[in-house]
Amino acid sequence: MEEVEGFWCACGFSGHGFMQAPAVGLVLAQLLLEGKAEVDVSTLSHRRFARGELVAERNVI
Ligand SMILES: Cc1cc2nc3c(=O)[nH]c(=O)nc-3n(C[C@H](O)[C@H](O)[C@H](O)COP(=O)(O)OP(=O)(O)OC[C@H]3O[C@@H](n4cnc5c(N)ncnc54)[C@H](O)[C@@H]3O)c2cc1C
Repeated sequence: MEEVEGFWCACGFSGHGFMQAPAVGLVLAQLLLEGKAEVDVSTLSHRRFARGELVAERNVI
């Protein structure tokens, strides 16, 4: 998060947090260490709220 230096946040998993944790951990580590992840997660950026670009989830569990 550019606004707060050194602050990283991976949250808001709803009912999928356990199963997504390994992949999210890998992506977060890649972003932290290399500045780029093998999977593009930019659509999940917190900035989507400010931009009004909400991502609709079609398969809610
Ligand atoms: C009944 C149930 C069944 C589930 N089953 C599955 C499943 O089968 N498979 C699956 O993949 N996922 C499942 N999930 C979802 C999974 O539990 C969550 O996605 C996951 O726990 C999210 O982890 P987290 O660390 O992001 O958040 P959390 O586990 O919610 O942890 C957040 C922590 O922050 C603390 N906190 C909050 N606010 C503050 C504050 N202001 N100051 C300090 N601490 C604070 C909370 O007390 C909590 O300990 C289930 C969830 C529920 C409720």
